[in-house]
Amino acid sequence: MVRDELLRLRASAESEAATLARDLQALFTASRDSNADDEHDPEGATIGFERAQLTALLAAARERMAEVDEALRRVDDGTYGICERCGRPIAEERLTARPFARHCIACA
Ligand SMILES: [Zn+2]
Repeated sequence: MVRDELLRLRASAESEAATLARDLQALFTASRDSNADDEHDPEGATIGFERAQLTALLAAARERMAEVDEALRRVDDGTYGICERCGRPIAEERLTARPFARHCIACA
């Protein structure tokens, strides 16, 4: 059950990362074609900003994928839902809100 939820999260993070990577690639191509100059062209500055945003979003999506993978590993280990710091069970509500949480609320 938890596994299904995690796999679903993994898939959505993965498709998000793929979309962002594609957008980023398109942006690179567009900025190369227009030969935009980040320093002097206002258009170039916008592209630079957009690129920074997409890069940050992509990094976040990839990090989420890694977190979910880690959670899946803990499901296999039988350590899922147990705080990595104090060894106590992580509250149900917390796991519902953050299925890949590694620490209980007290330790987070
Ligand atoms: Zn704890």
